[in-house]
Amino acid sequence: MIQRPVFFANWKMNHGPTEARAYMAAFLRIFSPHEDRTVAMFPPALSLATVRDARAGRTDIQLGIQNIYSRDRGAFTGENSAPMARDAGAELVLVGHSERRHVFDETNLEVAQKVAIAPQFGLTPVLCVGETLQEREMDAAEHIVMEQLEIGISALRKETIPQIVVAYEPVWAIGTGRSATPEDASSMHRVIREKLRALAPGSDGVPILYGGSVSTKNAKSLLEADGVDGVLVGSACLDPEGWAEICRT
Ligand code: PEP
Repeated sequence: MIQRPVFFANWKMNHGPTEARAYMAAFLRIFSPHEDRTVAMFPPALSLATVRDARAGRTDIQLGIQNIYSRDRGAFTGENSAPMARDAGAELVLVGHSERRHVFDETNLEVAQKVAIAPQFGLTPVLCVGETLQEREMDAAEHIVMEQLEIGISALRKETIPQIVVAYEPVWAIGTGRSATPEDASSMHRVIREKLRALAPGSDGVPILYGGSVSTKNAKSLLEADGVDGVLVGSACLDPEGWAEICRT
């Protein structure tokens, strides 16, 4: 179950197994169990087993994978499938992260296939949506985010929609040190919530997270913003002290 507030750490392509072991030892030492929130780590796939073993016994900490392929098995060299991720201990999967969309050219349709296959194998998809700076300046931010959301969940069965997580991550805020203001985040979260309600009545339990240059300095004000159920953090989760501080917010 995902309890709000939600704190998701996306390690991106950082911390292989040796570093992951040291990171988890430090993090678990300074971050005591908190049952009133959800904390999850998204290490690189090669470090999943290390993080899974390190957090054994800490049921307050969940585990996710950063990406899956849209098929469950076969001749797809280099890819990881949903059942393999589940078998390795993942409970969640990031889908449609901006780096997947913009560095690896993932389309909305590919994202939709990944969102759809995840729950079939017991993974909760975290659908990431967000506009580029150019799209925001053209006043197209809402249109782009709505399109990503609508197509992203289009291959899901309606009754499964309440089980997903959505992360609003404006591309211009990711890794730039320039976070959205709490007002801007709130305003997009409101639109996402309304769209989810229209597409899937009964989906009010879907957490909507904000991501993009969240730090120890701005986490509190972003988490207090109306409609923000949690944060998805990249750079600021890479050191265990900073991440523990954010998770205590
Ligand atoms: C991310 O990778 O999802 C992210 C939000 O990165 P950062 O916190 O570095 O902007």
